[in-house]
Amino acid sequence: MKAEIIGVGTELLLGQIANTNAQYLSGELAEIGVNVYFHTVVGDNPSRLADAIKQAEKRADLLIFTGGLGPTKDDLTKEIIAGHLQREMETDNDAWEKIQDYFKRTGRYMTANNEKQARVIIGAKVLPNEHGMAPGMFIKEGPCFYMLLPGPPHEMKPMFRTYGRQAIIDQLETVDCIESRVLRFFNIGEAEIAERLSDIIDAQTNPTVAPLAGDGEVTIRLTARSDSKDKAVAMLNDIEKQIQEKAGEHFYGYNDTSLMAELLKVLENRELTIAAAESLTGGLFQSEMTSVVGVSTMLLGGIVCYSNEAKVKLCDVKPETLEKYGAVSEQCAIELAENVRMSLNADIGISFTGAAGPDSLEGHPAGTVWIGMSFKDRESKAILAKMAGTRNGNRRRSVKMGCYYLL
Ligand code: ATP
Ligand code: MG
Repeated sequence: MKAEIIGVGTELLLGQIANTNAQYLSGELAEIGVNVYFHTVVGDNPSRLADAIKQAEKRADLLIFTGGLGPTKDDLTKEIIAGHLQREMETDNDAWEKIQDYFKRTGRYMTANNEKQARVIIGAKVLPNEHGMAPGMFIKEGPCFYMLLPGPPHEMKPMFRTYGRQAIIDQLETVDCIESRVLRFFNIGEAEIAERLSDIIDAQTNPTVAPLAGDGEVTIRLTARSDSKDKAVAMLNDIEKQIQEKAGEHFYGYNDTSLMAELLKVLENRELTIAAAESLTGGLFQSEMTSVVGVSTMLLGGIVCYSNEAKVKLCDVKPETLEKYGAVSEQCAIELAENVRMSLNADIGISFTGAAGPDSLEGHPAGTVWIGMSFKDRESKAILAKMAGTRNGNRRRSVKMGCYYLL
């Protein structure tokens, strides 16, 4: 299969943004054995886009478009492709419900052009957009395949990874078996993991090793191709072993899991209960935990003790502790964790206290966070985390850190 990637958007031609979508998709396609022959960029202009499509059809059999699926007037990719293929459009119910639900939930005013985002070309396989409104599409017509993806990379990448890639694999004629596995790491930067794995990454051909960073985590996707599933899986096992030897202490799970999901698995298996005292996280830890169904056997509850007064009055922190060490301290974190655990008679107590930012607190720079942990059968401890994100980034990261250190 020969592919051409067509970036649609005048801002690409004006040099306002770089065509990182083409770079990303080329890497993905190389990995599944699809040769990319051309990258094309065309502005938001109907006749030039139509010309680009005709050109591409002469030299490729898979045309992947990014951009122009949104609600505004200049978003015209799917209209032009529908016209070119002489197909009508229809409203995709799932996408339309999602859009309506979004406006209902947020109380925002929905304009007529929002329904446009839910319109898909008749006969297309719809690729759901889990990070935005406009769905993608995959269409077969004559000798060619057409894939339409949104422009924003944070929508396009997960859509391609989750749905687009497989749709293409299903059309490949090769007898190769392709197996993938995602390894998830926390508390290690992308640069550090790339350095530790540099030999493996440099030598990669099959299996391929693709790191991706985001939200304080690094994932590495391994993809092996072979003539049998068993052989491909054995290749994955082998390369995973090499990676685990170099960075295993930061590994926490496979594929679509999360730190919270892994923590809950452990609590459930060991029949443990937990309670939380939260200062800078303001209940975020418990909020994330309660977003999972069936958590009531594990999470007993806890308190938000944002002010020092609340720490003393609601969580029995000794005033001397605050005077002597301050709220951003190991001592305060441990007292919070111990007291919340004991007042609810839980197996584990966890606490978060620190400077979320943007300002420093008690002389500690923003992003200084102590996470306290108290256990029924072990000594209490507190971990110092230093983060450099935004206020809410630091708060989210603290929650992840808490899960990570409990694992
Ligand atoms: P939206 O619903 O946001 O309008 P869309 O599918 O219509 O999405 P565009 O309007 O073409 O996409 O682009 C939206 C944004 O996505 C651009 O402003 C840019 O930030 C990003 N983007 C678009 N194309 C690319 C590309 N080829 N590479 C990297 N970023 C891109
Ligand atoms: Mg747009």
